[in-house]
Amino acid sequence: MSNKIAIITGASRGLGKSTALHLARQGVHIIGTYHSREDEALQVAAQVEALGVKAKMLQLDVGDSSRFDAFASQVADALGAYFNAERFDFLVNNAGIGLYASCAETTEAQFDQLMKVHFKGPFFLTQKLLPLIADGGRIVNLSSGLARFSPVGYAAYASMKGAIEVWTRYLAQELGPRGITVNSLAPGAIETDFGGGTVRDNADVNAWVAANTAMGRAGLPDDIGAAISMLLGEGGRWITAQRIEASGGMYV
Ligand code: NAP
Repeated sequence: MSNKIAIITGASRGLGKSTALHLARQGVHIIGTYHSREDEALQVAAQVEALGVKAKMLQLDVGDSSRFDAFASQVADALGAYFNAERFDFLVNNAGIGLYASCAETTEAQFDQLMKVHFKGPFFLTQKLLPLIADGGRIVNLSSGLARFSPVGYAAYASMKGAIEVWTRYLAQELGPRGITVNSLAPGAIETDFGGGTVRDNADVNAWVAANTAMGRAGLPDDIGAAISMLLGEGGRWITAQRIEASGGMYV
């Protein structure tokens, strides 16, 4: 993986940050994005560079597709200016937000926001970046265990992740001739800031997750960074169009 270049959306915190650090340890240069936490993104860039690879952080709202052409131009410029390259190798569509609401209570505004950030955003961002992904590259789209199991309160969010899994298969078909693999990685409940940090900070929720997980604990960001890094590594070269769940065995 040495000297490959990865774009990771939402690399300032949580799973994206862990993925950036795992890849950096294997010699992969990082283009990360953040939405509002530039300070945290720059700290991640410093940690990545301390591992001996290059890092560039770019601002991006994945919910605003009108900016994607400009973002693709920024990526092309950054590839030339910072990495002496014309293409990148790995795309990790990771950025996201949580929403806890029943079907009865979800508003149209909440639904539209989730749809833009979790489905329309990755779909059209990837479309705009396709000319910049090297043949033989890899794409990983973040889904969720909630696309398989269905506790009340996640209908709209999980439906977007279900859409991600369907789209992943179609994209894998289209990009196979270019040697590009496309998979969805579905984490279980992981201890990050996501959804207000509930899984990490609410002891009852954390214990409930642990009790329903074969491995007996909630997930940690490094569990997911390691799984994504594995998919992007040599061992993942013949895996495409798949949904891979990294949940420690939730609800099996
Ligand atoms: P997190 O700790 O809350 O981090 C979210 C990241 O996404 C941050 O880097 C944030 O940027 C960025 N982001 C948020 N809204 C954005 C927007 N509109 N445009 C661009 N970037 C945006 O979340 P996480 O736990 O790492 O989750 C990452 C992904 O995993 C999400 O797709 C989530 O749905 C999925 N997932 C998480 C869990 C879990 O339990 N944590 C489980 C299953 C799936 P700023 O720092 O600038 O705000």
